[in-house]
This record gives sequence, structure tokens and C-alpha cells, in this order.
Amino acid sequence: ARQPITGGNWKMNPTSLDDARELAKSVAAAAGSSAAEGIVFPPYPFIGPVGEIIKDTKLNLGSQSIFFEDKGAYTGAVSASMVKSLGVKYVLAGHSERRTLFKDNDAAINKKVLKIIEGGMIPVLCIGETKEEFDANLCESVCAIQLAKDLAGVSAADVKTMIIAYEPVWAIGTGLVCPSETAQKVHKFLRAKLASMYDQATADAVRIQYGGSVTPDSVDELMSMPDIDGCLVGGASLDGEKFGRILNFN
Ligand code: 13P
Repeated sequence: ARQPITGGNWKMNPTSLDDARELAKSVAAAAGSSAAEGIVFPPYPFIGPVGEIIKDTKLNLGSQSIFFEDKGAYTGAVSASMVKSLGVKYVLAGHSERRTLFKDNDAAINKKVLKIIEGGMIPVLCIGETKEEFDANLCESVCAIQLAKDLAGVSAADVKTMIIAYEPVWAIGTGLVCPSETAQKVHKFLRAKLASMYDQATADAVRIQYGGSVTPDSVDELMSMPDIDGCLVGGASLDGEKFGRILNFN
């Protein structure tokens, strides 16, 4: 069976190191006995300090992105080895905010995924359709294309340990959580797609998270679905108590 895994994507929050430390402490306290493996994804400048705070807890350290080059003249960029050296285990790739605001395309995302793996970390590959695509019944084809492009050249052995996050763009930050039956259908489709790209055993090992307006009110039903293996949480991960409840789903 797949061990549930849930991440808190802090995005560009909180706005100071002191606040980041406070949040890390409250999340660590609330995460104590959780059923799900927990990850926090702080902004780059806070990764080190947050890592210090959570190092003897059950929480894992994540990075919200990396650039795919090893080092050099790339002003403003952060490499895989830099975050790895701070204790990062999981790295997001392909988040919809990166795709739209920072123009990360599938070719770049694929390079990032490969670089994260090469750097000895685990990618959390985010995919998902927009509202227009959902309305046009293109959800599955959009997700299948993203999966194929973003995983190009990734071996079955590496995919097995990876995490895929299905995040419908229309559910992110909108309060419109995707109905759990709908999310289940997409997750099941994604697993079948992985089985066709690799094999059934590989597909069965991959953990697929749902993301988009997850709260303590919606987590239990989402987590009762057979192909939903965890959540990727934005807004509600900025509150230690709420995120703790999400990690301790029923
Ligand atoms: P919200 O939980 O705020 O909708 O954000 C979801 C998300 O984008 C997580 O990566």
C-alpha cells in the first residue's frame, strides 16, 4: 500500500523569517502523530532556518522550485545542489503558478524533473487543466500530455518514487475544491496513463496528490478515495492547526 503523503506549499508566504519560524514550529507541533508523511515547502530564503526547526521532527523539507542548470551566471536562480545541501528531500516542478507567472514550459519542467532526480531528491510534479480546458472536457488529454512531456527520459525506477500532484487550475486558491469523485476519476486515469507509459507495478507505486482549496473540511472525503494518496495544500498550510488536521486525516 502507498504511504499517504501531504505537502504544505507556502508559496510566497510568510513575509518574514520570524513568521516563517513561527509557522514551522506550529506545523511541527501539529504534525507529531500524523498518518500522512508531511512536507513543508518554504520560500528559498527560509529553507535553511525552517530545516533547522523541523530536523528532529517527522516533517520533511521541500523546495518550491529549482533552476535546471548546475551553476553559473543565472542571476536570481537557485540550483538543485544548493537546496539539497540544506536538507531538501522533495522539490516541486510544474506548479501552475510557475507555468503561468514564470513561463516554465513543459521542456523546462522536464529538465527540472531530471535535475531534481540527478541531485538525489524526489520531484513532486504538478499538472492540471484550466477552467476552459475542464469545461471543454479536455482535462484528461491535457493532463496526459503534461505527464508525457514532463516525464520524458525519466526511468521507471525513478518514477516509482516520484509524486504527481493533480492540481486543477480552477481549484487553486478559489475555494472551489474539486469534488472528490471527480478527482478520483482523474487520479485513476493518471495511474492508467502511467501504467501505459511504464508498467502496472510502477503506476501502482506512484503517489498521486490532489491539490486545490484543500481544507480540514474536505480532506477526509478526498483521502477516502482509492487513488488519492495525499494532498498538496496552499492556503490552509499557512495555519499550523489546519495543516496539522489535514495531515491527521480520518
Ligand atoms: P490552495 O490550497 O491555496 O488552493 O493552493 C493549492 C496549491 O496550489 C498547492 O500547490
